[in-house]
Amino acid sequence: MTETQCQILIVDDQKVVRHTLSLCLRNLGYEGCYEASNGKEAKRVIEEHQIDVIFCDLNMPVEDGFEVLRYLGASHYQGAIVLMSSEEQDVLQSTSQLARLYNLQIIGCLPKPLTAADIKSMLLDWAALPTVSMGKLLNEGALSSEQLIQFIEQGSVKAYFQPQIDLNTQAIQGFEVLARIEESPQKILMPDLFIPAAEGDATLILALTKSIIQSAYEDVKQHWDYVSSLSFSFNISGRVLEHDNFPNWLKDISEKYSIPTHQIVCELTETALNDDQAITDAQMLRMRMLKFKLSIDDFGTGYSSIAQLHAIPFNELKIDKCFIFDCLTNSKSATVVEQSVKMAKALGLTVVAEGVESAEVVEFLHRLGCDSAQGYFYAKPAPLSDFISETWFINRAYPQ
Ligand code: C2E
Ligand code: CA
Ligand code: CA
Repeated sequence: MTETQCQILIVDDQKVVRHTLSLCLRNLGYEGCYEASNGKEAKRVIEEHQIDVIFCDLNMPVEDGFEVLRYLGASHYQGAIVLMSSEEQDVLQSTSQLARLYNLQIIGCLPKPLTAADIKSMLLDWAALPTVSMGKLLNEGALSSEQLIQFIEQGSVKAYFQPQIDLNTQAIQGFEVLARIEESPQKILMPDLFIPAAEGDATLILALTKSIIQSAYEDVKQHWDYVSSLSFSFNISGRVLEHDNFPNWLKDISEKYSIPTHQIVCELTETALNDDQAITDAQMLRMRMLKFKLSIDDFGTGYSSIAQLHAIPFNELKIDKCFIFDCLTNSKSATVVEQSVKMAKALGLTVVAEGVESAEVVEFLHRLGCDSAQGYFYAKPAPLSDFISETWFINRAYPQ
């Protein structure tokens, strides 16, 4: 895409900022500039046009920048975003972290007042990226309920497994099971294209969850000799717990496949936990009585973590990858990780860190006393059979 074809949206309540920025962009060869003076107008432009880059102010009356980010996250926006604000640098940094949680591509934070030099260097860096996905609203790729039901019925929902490594022994202690849909052998659909839609419908997410568990149990059974001592973690949405009989269904199917319930971990996200407290609490207690393990997923990203930990007998705490990614460069993330490990230990929980991508992070986590780690440093999620053929798995230790 040439510069002139790139469509840019400027969202700022100050006319002078919009005007100056758009002038500056035109001088740089970017012709197609749209303007919006608040979040509401911005949404309208985004719905009507294919926008590649959004310059977004944070502080605006009538739907501010945070609302725009939430909206872009919900609609799986794939273009680039530049945050602009006269707030302190740490506010901008925290906001870009928030945006990362929404899976948005923040290419930079510009402090105000803007300068032509800053804008230019940011756009040049961005245009030089080899993997730039020019913006399009990707919910066009998201599945409809009907498509999802069809994939479930066809048996196209597959379980992928990502190893969790014991940081003391470097041995595999278990796997997290992650959902994939095999549309064709070449085309694997990722969860962000179907989980959010499924979670909007309690029956659909239940059907999907059951089919992932069933698919995983088939694989586990087939390779039982290798994996008989390991744990298997499933993501259980709060909507699934609305179904009274889910804990018993899980117990029955575990018995059918002869998988002991104490080897099964149910990962519950904090958002999932917030829906209807009394119902989810009772269901979680039921799961514990059936000897399943409970894990609090994405720890640190919700708003009620500590109260939840206090109220429910969790066995494990999973620190969200957004804190792990930059724990060596961002002192706030490091503090969150450190304090989460401390608190988990004090409450008698095991701690898993997800999103571990380097040996240096492994070392840092080990030093803090974190029990286990999961991430691309060890392996990406893959079919269970891929791990069986890996020597490191057969030896039950990550190769040094
Ligand atoms: P999650 O539960 O937080 O799962 C971890 C996600 O982080 C997975 O993404 C995994 O592939 C990714 N990940 C792990 N290590 C690394 C790393 O080192 N670097 C990076 N960049 N990413 C890493 P995935 O598979 O795309 O799943 C996304 C989310 O979809 C999951 O987040 C979970 O919330 C949801 N999900 C997946 N499978 C299921 C399911 O069966 N049921 C439900 N309810 N939700 C599911
Ligand atoms: Ca999880
Ligand atoms: Ca997570």
